[in-house]
Amino acid sequence: MNATPAHDAIDWDRLRADFPLLRRKVHGKPLIYFDSANTGQKPECVIAATDDFYRRHNANVSRAVHALGSEATEAYEGARRKLAAFLHVRADELVLCSGTTFALNLVAYSWALPRLQAGDAILVTRMEHHANIVPWQLIAQRTGATIKVAELLPDGRLDLPALYAAMTPEVKLLAVAHVSNVLGTLNPVAEICREAARRGITTVVDGSQAVPHMPVDIAAIGCDFYAFTGHKLCGPTGTGGLWAKREHLQAMPPFLGGGEMIKEVRFDGTAFNDPPHKFEAGTPNIAGFVGLGAAVDYLSGIGMAAIHAREADLLAHASEELRKIDGLRIFGNAPDKAAVISFTIDGVHSHDLATLLDLEGVAVRSGQHCAHPLLQWLGVGTTCRASLAFYNTHAEVDAFVAALRKVVRLLA
Ligand code: PMP
Repeated sequence: MNATPAHDAIDWDRLRADFPLLRRKVHGKPLIYFDSANTGQKPECVIAATDDFYRRHNANVSRAVHALGSEATEAYEGARRKLAAFLHVRADELVLCSGTTFALNLVAYSWALPRLQAGDAILVTRMEHHANIVPWQLIAQRTGATIKVAELLPDGRLDLPALYAAMTPEVKLLAVAHVSNVLGTLNPVAEICREAARRGITTVVDGSQAVPHMPVDIAAIGCDFYAFTGHKLCGPTGTGGLWAKREHLQAMPPFLGGGEMIKEVRFDGTAFNDPPHKFEAGTPNIAGFVGLGAAVDYLSGIGMAAIHAREADLLAHASEELRKIDGLRIFGNAPDKAAVISFTIDGVHSHDLATLLDLEGVAVRSGQHCAHPLLQWLGVGTTCRASLAFYNTHAEVDAFVAALRKVVRLLA
């Protein structure tokens, strides 16, 4: 994607200064944080909002009539409304939970488990994160359903004709990533969900790696379920959400039972609360969601289209420089991709690379990135992954590439 005028007009260095952690040193070197696909850093306003909640408003939600109780409830529900507006959905269709893993398990246990049976199939893609594979395997074991896999093209895109051909009548559910956490591939989820809907297949989109990096309009995607995580979105850990069509939320039984999710409890039968509260048993991460609400305000203030363009710029620069390194192989070269670069260097182990890069102040992830089936298909044991965010800089990309060259010389 080309830089937009809006992107050019933004003072990205000033925005970077909003992130206190990015000012620290690691092993005596300025930190270069290239692990945002793992978790994102937090701006001052998010830290301040969480801090302020505990200092001035802390109370439980939806229980107490006292002033603090109403303030806490309003702050929590306010965060839900902000997130819903950010993602273009109705607030009463947005279940707040601890993150994508919880959200996908909620769909698995509450939607899929009561519906699937022997003879049914769940279609997943080769590029899914374990969080979008293992819950379906658990449900398949319990119901007798089978798992089908949609394969990829060599550049890391989904093989769409093969995917559509795999949408056979026994497939009841399709689980697909919006953006791959290893390859960076941006999948055409609106088209995929349209094809699935035409065949009566329910769709679950894992938006973990999309929501932090581009404008996401869930309503326009047309899926049945959309899961995301707050900690990659400049928000606190232990926050995230599941959007689902209202008809699903109404039909689904609760996943967890407890306080908050009921209207009335009697020993001869309990009446459940309305969605989304029906799926929010127990005390939620109230301060975390207050922080996530502040994160959404912050990101909306910058503009997600500008963030996408900025990251595309950083990705282009990093990819170009990395390709100049002998023996370096990049996995995932789709034309539409997020700023995630998985790579190996011939003759060098990824863990050694990441360990020595760390000594240079550079934080990258090495390993299998919770995507064993994808790594098996790529034919590599591990990769290094540099994942960038708008708060990174071109100078950091240059310093990372210089550090990588130095480390490779040491290991060669
Ligand atoms: N799906 C994808 C594509 C991810 O990148 C991640 C986080 N690495 C997850 C799911 C799981 O998210 P969480 O750990 O926040 O539940």
